Amino acid sequence: MKEHIEREAAVKAVEIVDFYKGSGIVPSGYASDAIRAIPAADVREVVKAHWIKSDLFGDMMVSVYTCSNCNRVIRVPSGLNPAKDIAPFCHCGAEMTEMRGEADGN
Ligand SMILES: [Zn+2]
Repeated sequence: MKEHIEREAAVKAVEIVDFYKGSGIVPSGYASDAIRAIPAADVREVVKAHWIKSDLFGDMMVSVYTCSNCNRVIRVPSGLNPAKDIAPFCHCGAEMTEMRGEADGN
């Protein structure tokens, strides 16, 4: 499992090593020990996906899109952008950031 740390905490650990570098005060391996001692941040990995427009099952009033991550199908009123107007996140948790196929809900 991946662990993440805060950038600023890592920078501070390295700055301490840089400050005392060559003085003999900081033992070798201090930087790696200091970084390992930083508690893991409470973060969640972001899954990026996009809505893929399907030519099947749509009509003049509704377009059909499929999630590129989980294949969930949604129906979107024609003229609306699924990621911007209807579902910026899929039920699978993916953030819908780009769209393949015809853009802008046409
Ligand atoms: Zn999905």
